[in-house]
Amino acid sequence: MSSDSTFTLQTIGIIHSCYTEKFGIPRQPGLVTEAVARLELTSPYNRLDTLDGLEGFSHIWIQFIFHACLSENWKAKVRPPRLGGKVKMGVFATRSTHRPNPIGLSVVKIGRIYEEDKKVFIDLHGADLLDGTPVLDIKPYLPYSDCVENATGGFAPEAAQTKQVHFSELALSKCQHYENLHNREIGTLIKQIVEQDPRPSYLTHQTGKVHGITLWNLNIKWCARIDHLEILDIESLR
Ligand code: SAM
Repeated sequence: MSSDSTFTLQTIGIIHSCYTEKFGIPRQPGLVTEAVARLELTSPYNRLDTLDGLEGFSHIWIQFIFHACLSENWKAKVRPPRLGGKVKMGVFATRSTHRPNPIGLSVVKIGRIYEEDKKVFIDLHGADLLDGTPVLDIKPYLPYSDCVENATGGFAPEAAQTKQVHFSELALSKCQHYENLHNREIGTLIKQIVEQDPRPSYLTHQTGKVHGITLWNLNIKWCARIDHLEILDIESLR
C-alpha cells in the first residue's frame, strides 16, 4: 500500500490460454465452453495448500489485470457491442476494458487442480482471458449468495444471439489433420468462438471480408456470408 488511495497489488498467477490475440476472445466467460485455460500460480503462492478445499467448488471468480490495455486511457462513456456500438453507456454500467483500474472479473468452471514440474495449475473451462493475463486473486463462487434470483440484466438481459457457422471442405480436412496430429478435436472450439461473431459492431453487416483469429499458433480464417459465417481455412503460423 503506498498512500490512502493507491495500492500495490501482487500477481498470484498467470493465465495460459489458447487466445494469443484479443480478437476472437469471447466477450464474457462461459460462452466458449470448449476453451480450457490453465492458471499457473506464481511464487510465493505456487503451493497446492493455498487451494485446499477448492475441490468442493465447481466455479471460481478470477480477478485479473487487462494487461494488454495498460497503455489505453479509461473512458467515462463507452459503446457496448451489445448495443451495436451505436449507443454510449457509462463505463461503470459496462464490462468494458477501458476502466480507471484495468481489473477484470470472470466466473469460470474449475477443472483439474494439479502439480506438474513443481508448478501448480488449475484448469479453467470457458475463460475469456488472453494468454499471459496476470491474475490478482481467485475466490470460490458461492451459489447461495452469488447466484441472485430475479436479477435484471439492464441492456444485456441475455447472451447475444449466436450465428450459424459452416466449415469449408478445406477447413474440415484441416480440423481432421489437427486432430490426427494432436489427438484433440478442435472444430467445436472454433465453432463456439466464431459463432459469437467477434467483429466490432460497425462491421457485422459486411460480407466476404476474410478475418483471422489466432488460436495458439493457428490462424483461423473465416468470413461472413449472407446468412452464416464460414470457416475457410486453418493455417499454421510457424
Ligand atoms: N469477464 C471480464 C469482466 O467482465 O471483467 C472481461 C469482460 S471484457 C468485455 C472481455 C474482453 O476482454 C475479451 O473479449 C478480450 O478482448 C479482453 N481481454 C481478455 N483478457 C485480456 C487482457 N489480459 N488484457 C486486455 N484485454 C483482455
